Amino acid sequence: AIEEDQDAPEDLKPRAPIVTVMGHVDHGKTSLLDYVREANVIAGESGGITQHIGAYGVELDDGQRITFLDTPGHEAFTAMRARGAQVTDIAVIVIAADDDIMPQTKEAISHAQAAAVPLVFAINKIDRPTANPDKIKEGLANMNLLVEDWGGKIQSHDISAKTGDGVKELLEKVLLEAELLELKANPNKNASGTVVEAFLDKGRGYVSTILVQAGTLRIGDYVLAGTHSGKVKAMYDERGKEIKKAGPATPISILGLDGAPQAGDKFNVMEDEREAKQIATKRSQLLREQSVRTQRH
Ligand code: GDP
Repeated sequence: AIEEDQDAPEDLKPRAPIVTVMGHVDHGKTSLLDYVREANVIAGESGGITQHIGAYGVELDDGQRITFLDTPGHEAFTAMRARGAQVTDIAVIVIAADDDIMPQTKEAISHAQAAAVPLVFAINKIDRPTANPDKIKEGLANMNLLVEDWGGKIQSHDISAKTGDGVKELLEKVLLEAELLELKANPNKNASGTVVEAFLDKGRGYVSTILVQAGTLRIGDYVLAGTHSGKVKAMYDERGKEIKKAGPATPISILGLDGAPQAGDKFNVMEDEREAKQIATKRSQLLREQSVRTQRH
């Protein structure tokens, strides 16, 4: 069966924080994610394979790591939460300094708060002549969100996702926030985690991006993910480089599942292939029955 076994404290090792970027449309979520990715993931890669796999990890100069869910907007966040997946440790809320605190910004803030996920504000577009970061911070204060410059405890940094100004400092603040959370996981057991996205690739079959949250996933492991299962045939990191194993807080894409699981589905490594297949089949049946029932009502 799928067990959620308790880890002994000595088995727990520090892991990278997992960060989601949220905010109002056009405030710069994609630009920030692209800037961070290009500055940290692609630079120095000889192959230069640039494929979006829905999540990536960055390593800062001091060796500290951050894992970003590369699906901007809170749709992915809410979809995952709706499936019971708590993936995000920290929410970066992007707000354009030449605009106001918009409805979607407020929505993103309340989603994060409802999930008890700490916020870090990225006050963006400060390169624009009409940018007024103080007005944004005042607006936040009026919502009872006091950022550091305003005497509060919430981390915030002024950035330009276009020029890259302040982005490094923003990431440092994310890591500071992460330190307070004392994030840990046990790398020495069968892997489990969450599906980020999955699709059918013409040449390669089903490609699933998954986030390992505990344990270590290895080639040859038998994985159960939502209503699908299969043996891991190949694993790739965010650079498209083939890897053989992946520990906690590592996003990877894998080949070998017999279908595309949904974003937010949990995955587990199963010792017993037959049992995994049975559970997957059972889950599909339950889902079918559920959808028949909802159609009737
Ligand atoms: P998203 O909808 O939140 O993902 O926003 P985008 O990242 O797509 O950005 C919306 C627009 O704002 C694009 O035209 C970007 O080029 C522009 N933009 C984003 N960040 C900045 C910034 O820091 N400075 C300036 N001048 N433009 C930016």
